[in-house]
Amino acid sequence: MKKRVLILGSTGSIGTSALVVARQIPERMEIVGLAAGTRFEQLDQQAREFGVTHLCLADESKLSELKGQERDLYGGADGLVELVEATKPDLVLVAIVGVQGLRPTLKAIEMGCDIAVASKEILVMAGEVVMNAARRKGVHLLPVDSEHNAIFQCLEGHQGGNEELRRLIITASGGPFRTWPQEKLREVTLQDALRHPTWEMGQKITIDSATLFNKGLEMIEARWLFDIPMSKVEVVVHPQSIIHSMVEFIDGSVLAQMSTTDMCFPIQYAVAWPDRLPNKLKPLDFAALAKLEFEKPREDAFPALRLSREAGQTGGTLPAVLNAANEVANEAFRHHQLDFVGIWKTVEETMRRAEHIDSQELEIVVHADREARDIARSLI
Ligand code: MG
Repeated sequence: MKKRVLILGSTGSIGTSALVVARQIPERMEIVGLAAGTRFEQLDQQAREFGVTHLCLADESKLSELKGQERDLYGGADGLVELVEATKPDLVLVAIVGVQGLRPTLKAIEMGCDIAVASKEILVMAGEVVMNAARRKGVHLLPVDSEHNAIFQCLEGHQGGNEELRRLIITASGGPFRTWPQEKLREVTLQDALRHPTWEMGQKITIDSATLFNKGLEMIEARWLFDIPMSKVEVVVHPQSIIHSMVEFIDGSVLAQMSTTDMCFPIQYAVAWPDRLPNKLKPLDFAALAKLEFEKPREDAFPALRLSREAGQTGGTLPAVLNAANEVANEAFRHHQLDFVGIWKTVEETMRRAEHIDSQELEIVVHADREARDIARSLI
């Protein structure tokens, strides 16, 4: 069956990988709409290559650059929702950074579309509301993040309930500072932090991988996605990034999912699900791998995991606050307005100061997000 796929965030790193997948499995994946933030030239090129006429650009001032052909153009944050309504896709790949992905996701769920979720914010900020809506509508949430996709694969065919799961084990590369002494972390430069050992990604997420906030956000996502208490979500450092995550069952059996590090694997799995399709992606060469290592994460030196666990356990608006404060602090670090250690401090202080509301309704989390940004900015 060919799936009609709408890609929100088509010019980012996940979006472009999704189009690599679309080139490889054209008989199974038809692109019916594309949305980008500001890169109108790249969006225009993608639209031409895949014959897509429904386009959205968040930056409305550049919208006129896309005119000239028979196209349906949408702009701004409302445009994302309108694009979902106009294209009526089978599957929406949500790969936009930030809070903007939330509204179109809820709209798509309401319309009965499956969601391939790559944006962390959706499950971090509103995991409870999104998962409840999906369950109500009988919509599938297919995780595209490599870790959650791995867990999703390990749980395929598992007939028992979640009480048969002992723990979800999320693997982390550990980032570029895995072995740095704690005192030295103050001196981290932007260049140091942008050097990720195994994955090539956008700047924001690369910094999040260095602070381990990326892993912390993934813990929170897993908690909602798999409907499991936070206490059963663990992180293990695995520098080779070959095992993408694992599930341990109550009988002590552990299932792991492995592949070379290429986001095309989880994206293809989400699009082709529940089928598996052949592709030209690089297979694992076990002889060349030599070894797989594991170690305990250094929670004392990298407070992101502790803060994320606290936010996930508390629920309500606290995960949204953590996420927003981290986004502000991450950006400030990239603009040399904050040192590396200051990212954690800003997030923790914002969590202490922000008002907590025990709800994840859309308006409430959007408000909490805005308030947390103000607090974080005032701290920087
Ligand atoms: Mg990940």
